[in-house]
Amino acid sequence: MTNTNQAWFDRAQAVIPGGVDSPVRSFRSVGGTPYTVARGHGAYVEDVEGSRYLDFVQSYGASLLGHAHPDVVDAIRHTAGEGTTFGAPTPGEVLLAEIMCARVAGLEQVRLVSSGTEAVMSAVRLARGATGRDKILKFDGCYHGHSDALLVAGGSGVAQMGLPGSAGVTAGAVGDTIVAPYNVVPTLDESVAAVLVEPVAANMNLVAPRAGFLQGLRDECDRVGALLIFDEVITGFRLAYGGAQEYFGVTPDLWCFGKVIGGGLPVGAFGGSRKVLASLAPNGPVYQAGTLSGNPLATAAGVRVLNFVTREDYSALSSRVAQFAAALSDAVASAGLFALTPVEGPLMGLYLSREPVEAPTNFNEAKVLCDNGLYRPFFHAMLQRGVALAPGAYEILFVSMAHSDDDLSQAVECAREAAGVAAAS
Ligand SMILES: *Cc1c(COP(=O)(O)O)cnc(C)c1O
Repeated sequence: MTNTNQAWFDRAQAVIPGGVDSPVRSFRSVGGTPYTVARGHGAYVEDVEGSRYLDFVQSYGASLLGHAHPDVVDAIRHTAGEGTTFGAPTPGEVLLAEIMCARVAGLEQVRLVSSGTEAVMSAVRLARGATGRDKILKFDGCYHGHSDALLVAGGSGVAQMGLPGSAGVTAGAVGDTIVAPYNVVPTLDESVAAVLVEPVAANMNLVAPRAGFLQGLRDECDRVGALLIFDEVITGFRLAYGGAQEYFGVTPDLWCFGKVIGGGLPVGAFGGSRKVLASLAPNGPVYQAGTLSGNPLATAAGVRVLNFVTREDYSALSSRVAQFAAALSDAVASAGLFALTPVEGPLMGLYLSREPVEAPTNFNEAKVLCDNGLYRPFFHAMLQRGVALAPGAYEILFVSMAHSDDDLSQAVECAREAAGVAAAS
């Protein structure tokens, strides 16, 4: 047998470090061999062996409508036939930028890039260039991509690997990065160029901002003239129609986007007011560029997704997720474990515990729950029952618009059994 998960993983490991192109896909923290995906449709993926899984990974949030949505596939197919990259302006990038700016209050201009990492890295450079200051402040457990300056206390895959940061990052590269605990408004001074925050922390599983936290950051940034950057790579166009600005009513100076806006293709974006963006090349002194930036194929997919979803879709998805979270928590409790399933809009976390616990408010509290050993048996028991969660306890569940009520009920029944398995482990 050559078309098996094991055979593909063996071949992958020979030519790709660890067999994966992003460490979050590795099964290192849960053990075992990853399934190699052959195809995906809607809420489901199918591996090379023909096993089907109800998929709560959904490309870590890049897929909002589910896999291979026919409208998106059409857009990609049509665009591919017209040429996929030119190194000249194209209508698609204008259309995507127009939709984003129309939906997010305060967002006047965006520059498109090819990943979330690039978006945040560029936004930080812009903030430094625009303010003439060096320091940036990030929060413990927030992930902002893998650029050097931001790889400290990163959550997600970094936490999964049990790493405090990364080898290969110099002290100089992180010397201007201050790390503070999430949910406490730090006191800043005038050396700070920007405060970078995930408006809902979704890379230490799910930690919601306390009431007043984001507004507190806004006020503190204003007090010292620092810029507030919302990293909306997950929350953008997922948390709500207008993203975190609309959901929380707090307006940052700069936004970073990724994931959803590419419709499953590689796109990122950063933006803000025309005044701040005036510092960016070619108009200003802050350099930033990209051969494939604003790529026609990717913008066509992103435009199609954003044009497809309505405000009502977001509220419908949010209520489905709220019901699912409650049912999942009850099911796990019936098996003798506790499941915390925090929800913000359609974002949903999952922490397992043997004792009743309060929802974590920061990375240290999240870590205790993520590292208690219960996720690993739960993950495998779910997978065996045809439900794919992310292979790491620091990730959230992504419920797409293609997940039906039946799909979610089925996942709840699987969770009831899987919790029994984890409880007995
Ligand atoms: C995924 C993610 C990024 C990085 O995006 P990539 O496209 O993986 O480079 C940045 N910030 C947040 C909040 C993310 O979840």
